[in-house]
Amino acid sequence: MTSTLPDLPADHPFGLHHLPYGVFSTSGSPDRRRVGVRVGDRVLDLAALASDARVSWSTALQQPSLNAFLAEGPATWAAARAWLQDRLTDPGHRPDVEPHLLDLHEVRLHLPVDVADYVDFYASEHHASNVGSIFRPDGDALTPNWKHLPIGYHGRSSTVVVSGTDIVRPLGQRKRPQDPAPVFGPSTRLDIEAELGFVVGGATQVGTRVPVGEAMSHVFGVALFNDWSARDIQAWEYVPLGPFLGKSFASSLAAWVTPMEALASAHVPLPTQDPTPLDYLHGTEETSYGLDITMEVRVNGTLVARPPYRTMYWSPAQMLAHLTVNGAALSDGDLFASGTTSGAEPDTRGSLLELTWNGTEPITLADRSTRTFLQDGDEVVISASAPGAGGHRIGLGEVSGRVLPAR
Ligand code: CA
Repeated sequence: MTSTLPDLPADHPFGLHHLPYGVFSTSGSPDRRRVGVRVGDRVLDLAALASDARVSWSTALQQPSLNAFLAEGPATWAAARAWLQDRLTDPGHRPDVEPHLLDLHEVRLHLPVDVADYVDFYASEHHASNVGSIFRPDGDALTPNWKHLPIGYHGRSSTVVVSGTDIVRPLGQRKRPQDPAPVFGPSTRLDIEAELGFVVGGATQVGTRVPVGEAMSHVFGVALFNDWSARDIQAWEYVPLGPFLGKSFASSLAAWVTPMEALASAHVPLPTQDPTPLDYLHGTEETSYGLDITMEVRVNGTLVARPPYRTMYWSPAQMLAHLTVNGAALSDGDLFASGTTSGAEPDTRGSLLELTWNGTEPITLADRSTRTFLQDGDEVVISASAPGAGGHRIGLGEVSGRVLPAR
């Protein structure tokens, strides 16, 4: 597949085999958000191109979020992608395409999805084991339920923000075990969690469930996700009902959503699941798979971790099947995140909690400063790459954020 665009080499991480979707506006029309696709280092105004061509799904793109397009379902997602690739490879269409290409710096990127419900899972065995070892040193690292179901909780969808949004250090209660009473103030243990977010389309009815074998037909794509976490607030509040204010102040989502189709070459078998999960979580290699996505986490430009998503224990299909098994409905624009991605090696851990082993082993940045948890002014950037079609690698859209002082 060769592009007709002269500045788009086949091995570009945002080349024809990738084509992630986002929502943008321009300085000339700041109130008109619409759907675009990243093509190389430019943004294609897909809403305009599709409108010119009067394709049936073009009105779904003239919207300030991807939700209407998500509602169209997998047949339209596939048709739109094939149509777009044809437009970008057939020289006859080049005059139609070129007027709708904008430079990246000309556009403002917005949150791509109007997030309906947001669920966060806990699908990395290495992460769950590390956290268990840190917080329950005298008990089993994994809780008794961990290998029987993908553990998750419902988060706060209204505080999911787009990559690049500043993160204000949260205030809250904290109390260490040795403290006589809780205190209130800015979190002193602000952390990150490197995750993948899965963007859902194809609403379902309350009282129905999505079988694991059909789950991926409801997953439009993935975007990198940073689940900012205030460890001190979290540690004091989480028993017995789980994460609350230590998480809900902000979660950052990448601006570009990579379609699942672009990740077809990145499917990998899951790690061995022992004990065998219950039937409703038991898919085939075709329907329930892992993803060979390698993340990179940088703090102020220093690479601090390379979490391998391929090591995740539960598949996205299993997470979605579990999420609906009780009859909970799916909405267009639902977002579920994988949980912190951590591999077996120390430098593959996706949180500072693990990288510094609860603050006892500081990491050193390029400027020789050290970190246990994040300081005001710190910038965290998570990027990732994966095998794409034709032997080329694709680069997922990054998710970034800078920490501002508490207010
Ligand atoms: Ca998380």
